Amino acid sequence: MHFHHHGYVSADPRIQAAEGYGIDRPDELPDEVDVLIVGTGPAGMIAAAQLSQFPDVSTRIIERRPGRLEIGQADGIQARSVETFQAFGFAEEIIREGYHITEMAFWNPDQENPEHIIRTGRPKDDETGISEFPHLIVNQARVLDYFAQFALQSPGRITPDYGIEFVDLQVEDPATAADPKHPVQVTVRHTSGERSGEERTIRAGYVVGCDGARSQVRKSIGRSMFGDQANHAWGVMDVLANTDFPDIRTKCAIASKHGNILHIPREGGHLFRMYVDLGEVPADASRTVRQTGVEEIIAKANEILTPYSIDVRDVCWHSVYEVGHRLTNAFDDTDEDDPNSPTPRVFIAGDACHTHSAKAGQGMNVSMQDGFNLAWKLGQVVTGRSTDELLRTYSLERRVTAKNLIDFDKEWSTLMATPQEELPDKAYLEQFYVKTAEFPAGFMTEYTESMITASAAGQELATGFPVGKRFKSAQVNRVCDAFPVHLGHQAKADGRWRVYVFADSQRPTNDTSGAESKVAALADWLESDPQSPLVRFRRPGDDLDALIELSVIYQQEHTEFAFTDAPQVFRPLVGKLQLEYLEKIYATLPDDDIFEARGISREGAVVVVRPDQYVSGVFGLDEHERLGEFFAGVFAP
Ligand code: FAD
Repeated sequence: MHFHHHGYVSADPRIQAAEGYGIDRPDELPDEVDVLIVGTGPAGMIAAAQLSQFPDVSTRIIERRPGRLEIGQADGIQARSVETFQAFGFAEEIIREGYHITEMAFWNPDQENPEHIIRTGRPKDDETGISEFPHLIVNQARVLDYFAQFALQSPGRITPDYGIEFVDLQVEDPATAADPKHPVQVTVRHTSGERSGEERTIRAGYVVGCDGARSQVRKSIGRSMFGDQANHAWGVMDVLANTDFPDIRTKCAIASKHGNILHIPREGGHLFRMYVDLGEVPADASRTVRQTGVEEIIAKANEILTPYSIDVRDVCWHSVYEVGHRLTNAFDDTDEDDPNSPTPRVFIAGDACHTHSAKAGQGMNVSMQDGFNLAWKLGQVVTGRSTDELLRTYSLERRVTAKNLIDFDKEWSTLMATPQEELPDKAYLEQFYVKTAEFPAGFMTEYTESMITASAAGQELATGFPVGKRFKSAQVNRVCDAFPVHLGHQAKADGRWRVYVFADSQRPTNDTSGAESKVAALADWLESDPQSPLVRFRRPGDDLDALIELSVIYQQEHTEFAFTDAPQVFRPLVGKLQLEYLEKIYATLPDDDIFEARGISREGAVVVVRPDQYVSGVFGLDEHERLGEFFAGVFAP
C-alpha cells in the first residue's frame, strides 16, 4: 500500500484524505451533479466506488430502498470479480469471509433405481489454473458493503442517497441547453421519511441507470429488452438445515426424475442455497408461480434429493426468481449507427440491459464489469482528460460481452435441463463445464480495436497479454526490498492507466544520454519528448505518474542491479514532499520468470493497460511514435 508520501499517516492508511467534492459534501442531494447513478446494486456501487477516485467529479448515487440491501439476490463471485476486488483493496477480506468453490458435483438418476439420485461426476472448479484468484460464494449485500466502504474512504467520499427514486428524465440539446454541462433534467421522488412522496427536479451532466431488470431509466430513453418471451422460474431459498446428503457443502447440479436443483453452499459453514427449478413460465402465468410458498419449495427439494433429505431449521430468505435471456438494443441514448449523433448522456448498466439465468452465476459479476468499464471513462471525460467520444466505447464494448454471455448461458442452461440419457455421452455436461471454465470465470471478454484498444500489431512481443483481454498477472520481484509480488495486483482502481516496460536483455542503466539501451532511450522519450503522453497530457503541478503509472521489469534477478540503475522516470517524485517512489522497478524471479510465463520477447515489450485492467496494446521498446499516437487518441490535448 502506498502512503506517507504527503506526510506521516498515523491512522488507517486506507482512509484517503478528502479532496474536491469530497470536502464538505452536502448531506442533501444537490440541485446539480456531474454524474447521477440510479440504483445501489453491484453495477451502481462499483461505478460509485470508481468515481470516488475522481473527486473533481460531483457524483451522487440514489436508491429507492430506505437503506442497505440486507439479504438475498445473487451470491456467485467469479475469479474475475475477485481480481477486481483486489484493485479496490478488499479481495483479502472477502476471500476470508467467502465460501470457496473447489469442485462441482453432478448428480443424476441412478440407472438401477431411477427414483434415487447418485453422484456421476465431480470435476475440479478450475482444472487449468485460469486464475490465481478463487471462485467464491458471498452474499451480494456484503459485496455492496465493501464497495460502500471503499467509496466512503476515497477522496470523493461518496455515500448512497437512500430513499430517493428516479422517476423520469429529459435530455436537452447541450448546444442550446441553459446549462450545457448539465443538460439532463431528472425528476426524483422521496420514498421514505418525512418527505416521502415529495418530487423534485435536479440537473445532471450524465445519468447512469443501474436500476435493475425493470429499469425506469431504460424506459425513459426508449430502450427495450429483446429476447425470451417466457421467463424461467426458480424457487430460491437460503436455509439452515441438517441433512444426510453427502455433498451439502459442495456446489451441485442435481437432475432427478422429479426435477432439478442447483445447490450452492454458502459462507459461514452452515447456510446453503437451493435453486429449485419451477420450469418455464409464460408471461401471463407469472402471478401464479410467484405465489409458490417456501413449504412447497422445501417439499419439492426433498423429492428431488431422494433417497436423501433436508431438515430445515430456519429459512433465512426465499424468493421466486423469474428470469429470461434478454438484452437491450443499446446501452446508452445515442444512435450507434450514426457516428454524427450526439455523444451519450444517459447510460444503462447491469440487469437494466441484460438478464440471464442464475445457473452460470453471472448476474452480479457482469453487472460489476459494466459499471467498472463506464465509470473511469466518465471520470476521464468530466475532468476533461478525454473527449466525450470516449463514452461511445461503453455501449460498443459491453453490448458484445453481454450478447456472448447470453449465448453461453442459453447453452449451459439448456444442457443442464437435458436428461442425461439425451446427451451425446454421460460425462458431456461435466466436460462442457471444464472446457468452458474460462467463460463463467469472467475471462473471455475481449475488446476489439477502438480509440482505447490498439491493433494487434506487436502482439508477438507479449503473447501472454492478448490485446483486448484483461491483463493476466504474473509474479515479479520488487527490486528495492526483494519482495515477490504479483505485478497485476499492484494496479489499483484509481482511474490511472498503466504502462509496463519489459526490458530487453541489456543490463539496467540510468544513462539516458546515448541510445544504446532501448529502455534508457524510451525513458528519455517518456520524460522529455513533446509527443510523450507524460509531457503532452500532464497538467501543471501533477506528479509524473498522475495519469499513467509506469513500471519497469528487467530480465535480470534483483541481486544483479540496484534501483538506482533504473532511469529516473521509473522512480517518479511523488506527493507534497516530492519523494522518490521506488516500488515500480522489478526483477525476474529465478523459478518463476514472467518473461517465460507470459511469452514476452527477450527483445522487450511495452504493454499498455487501461484503468479497468484490460490490455490496450503491445508496443516495441523503440516504437515511440506509435505509443505517442495511441495516447494522443485517448487523451484530450
Ligand atoms: P440490482 O442488483 O437489481 O440493483 C438495482 C438497484 O436499483 C436496486 O437496489 C433497486 O432497489 C434500485 N432501483 C430500482 N429502481 C429504482 C429507481 N427507479 N430509483 C432508484 N433506485 C431504483 N441473481 C442470481 O444470480 N441469483 C439469485 O438468486 C438472484 N435473485 C434475485 C432476486 C431478486 C429479487 C432480484 C431483484 C435479483 C436477483 N438476482 C439473482 C439477480 C442479481 O441480483 C442481479 O443480476 C444483479 O444484482 C444485477 O445487478 P444490478 O446492479 O444491475 O441490479
